[in-house]
Amino acid sequence: LSRTRAHDHPVVALTVAGSDPSGGAGIQADLKTFAALGGYGCAVLTGLTAQSTTGVTRVHPVPADMVTAQLETLFADVAVDAVKIGMTTDAAVARAVAAVLRDLRAGADRPVVVLDPVMVATSGDRLLAADAEAVLRDELLPLADLVTPNLPEAAVLLGISPARDAAEAAAQATALLRLGPGHALVKGGHLDGPQAVDQLAGPDGVVALRAPRVATRNTHGTGCTLSSACAVLRPAHDGWAPAVRAAKEYLTGALRAADDLVVGGTGTASGP
Ligand code: PLP
Repeated sequence: LSRTRAHDHPVVALTVAGSDPSGGAGIQADLKTFAALGGYGCAVLTGLTAQSTTGVTRVHPVPADMVTAQLETLFADVAVDAVKIGMTTDAAVARAVAAVLRDLRAGADRPVVVLDPVMVATSGDRLLAADAEAVLRDELLPLADLVTPNLPEAAVLLGISPARDAAEAAAQATALLRLGPGHALVKGGHLDGPQAVDQLAGPDGVVALRAPRVATRNTHGTGCTLSSACAVLRPAHDGWAPAVRAAKEYLTGALRAADDLVVGGTGTASGP
């Protein structure tokens, strides 16, 4: 079980993210991850997607003032240990999330914040309005204890081209720290090789975190799952490196089990 150091209770983890009805990504994946790792999950919805395992057909933002209302109502009651931010949908929603987190940061018991800067689904569909990228970079990144971009997302945040190898990925992880997050995990899943090598940059330098590359087609939602695992595991670990290592182990197990699943991918979901 994930338990916080200070209190012997299951970690209360909040996901601020979009819905994926197919259950592989978004808040559905986040809540499953929190539960699997012994946490208690809460969820604030930022948007709905119409989505199957093969792609996204529509994205519908939750009005920004309703995102604010969800967050303020929750935080007025629930002591949240860890927050994971996923799809923020559009600029108004991203701003609303940043505003509430800034207020929260002023408090003594502020939660750990993990930002997964979700922009485009693997299927190629946009999950974040283009004008929200600047809000993500300027307002949300400085509030994050850990940001978890893949290579294309790191490149957008830095305004440069995607890293082509591990050394460039490590340099980009370090460069991201200048935008304000406490730690930056640049995920190397888009690079070739027998291992998935992620670069974790923090105040003490960069460490490479390796995991075997699992051969499966069922990788939808891996980013959501990893960032949620990092958030829920951090309170019981001494630093980000051990927490991210444990999160990667959990993800490797989930990927190994993925081929047992018979969920979608047959083409029927995109029919009339
Ligand atoms: N749907 C939602 C709501 C998401 O947050 C994400 C990823 O963060 C996705 C879909 C896409 O997942 P993937 O790119 O792993 O297919």
